[in-house]
Amino acid sequence: MNDLRFDNAFLRELPGDPSQAPGVRQVEAAAWSRVRPTPVAGARLLAWSPDVAEAIGFAPEDVLDPAFAEVFAGNALLPGMETWAANYGGHQFGHWAGQLGDGRAIGLGEAIGRDGRRHELQLKGAGPTPYSRTADGRAVLRSSLREFICSEAMHHLGVPTTRALSLVATGDTVVRDMFYDGRPEAEPGAVVCRVAPSFVRFGTFELPYARGDVDLLRRLADFTIRRDFPHIAPGEGRFGDWFVDVCERTARTVAEWMRVGFVHGVMNTDNMSILGLTIDYGPYGWIEPYDPDWTPNTTDAQGRRYRFGWQPRVAHWNLGRLAQALSPLFADTAPLQAGLEAYGRVFAEADRAAQARKLGLSRLDDDDLPLLQDLLTLLHDGEADMTRFYRALGTYVPERPPAPALLETFHDGASRVAGVLADWLRRYDARLERDGLGPAQRQARMQQANPLYVPRNWLLQEVIEAATAGDMAPLRTLQEVLRRPYDEQPGRDVHARMRPDWARDRAGCSMLSCSS
Ligand code: AMP
Ligand code: MG
Repeated sequence: MNDLRFDNAFLRELPGDPSQAPGVRQVEAAAWSRVRPTPVAGARLLAWSPDVAEAIGFAPEDVLDPAFAEVFAGNALLPGMETWAANYGGHQFGHWAGQLGDGRAIGLGEAIGRDGRRHELQLKGAGPTPYSRTADGRAVLRSSLREFICSEAMHHLGVPTTRALSLVATGDTVVRDMFYDGRPEAEPGAVVCRVAPSFVRFGTFELPYARGDVDLLRRLADFTIRRDFPHIAPGEGRFGDWFVDVCERTARTVAEWMRVGFVHGVMNTDNMSILGLTIDYGPYGWIEPYDPDWTPNTTDAQGRRYRFGWQPRVAHWNLGRLAQALSPLFADTAPLQAGLEAYGRVFAEADRAAQARKLGLSRLDDDDLPLLQDLLTLLHDGEADMTRFYRALGTYVPERPPAPALLETFHDGASRVAGVLADWLRRYDARLERDGLGPAQRQARMQQANPLYVPRNWLLQEVIEAATAGDMAPLRTLQEVLRRPYDEQPGRDVHARMRPDWARDRAGCSMLSCSS
């Protein structure tokens, strides 16, 4: 573990904050501030991801050594590690919010893994930084566990995402007012170590733009292209090529969110990765009863800006903010316009392809859109469980009455929509007929597009309650199940179950907040 190689390019190549004074401050003309994690009383490893550990170069014995928990709780450093908080701004809920920065995240270094790739390591919840504003830089077990489980689950679902190496209990408690309603409680603290090739965000560029600091803006853009987009040719056109690439990646990622039923919940521009990775798992949620208007985030309950069905357009709006931030680097803004157009095109293609796979069709033509749209209306009206419905549709046999397995995916057994469903299935039969895929081929295709196991909000809540009481077994089981989300796993029915009634209006299951 002491022989990992670090190449801390972000610190080496970009200007830093000259001050190391404690306390919150505005940091101008700098991409980062040096900061030390705040030690914790009782570091204890709760969970880890074997494939992330292996890619970085940790052997299982390294991870299980108590020294590992010390490092990944913020009590010790490995040779070559340097610690910092990154500076960035962002638009939150549609409004410019000024400097934000890593308020509860601390970079540990850029490890060059055994796989030759760059793995930036970052602790979330390791104490205050100059960017913590009024908060404490800590994170509670509930939110850290949610990030740990979901980011790994997303990877195994095939969705671009940051990863998680470890979940370490701090042994300290953290006081949180979960719903900002004057009922604070002490909760156990925990630190996640998250991992990505880069944690650069849209907001990284927005902050120097807002301050008129074109020199820093250009340095950040050139650094990001060099380190994170090495396939982009240096030269005049590099900024344009890069922006188009960012737009296309973002489009593909959001299409994947729509495929699996993921709602990010807080798509502020500081939470948008330049690599198009899903990042900053906070008040996210999974669509259970299909509802394009659902948002898991109570802070977003009013305008529901971040509702499931709006994610594609919010991503486009966010890219518009990035385009604006980058505009000083362009003499002619045509490439920025081209990027935003590419977003629309690539999203439409990726989304069509994903929806076709979900329905078991080889392609979705314009003529098929009413079939898709009517299905979504039906799923919404009938309160169908999105995950279960598509999975059951994969076993549907044309020209037979719908099997109970399909009807049971509606919360009321499809009694409200029985007639509409029967009509829709007749149209679907006809369409399958024209498509020509055989049933076995179709089913195989659908099973690769429609997961059986996703980190349902109530499942996580059960795991959180057990973990808070000291029982880690449910966490390990859930982690294991979510490593193979498309494979039926005997004995794991409960992990694929539809939302039980108790979870309908329960905090943590249908309502979440940014408090963590
Ligand atoms: P997020 O919702 O994670 O995107 O956080 C929004 C901003 O608030 C970021 O700048 C965070 O760093 C900061 N923040 C959120 N929670 C905390 C906390 N517990 N301590 C310090 N800063 C925080
Ligand atoms: Mg954030």
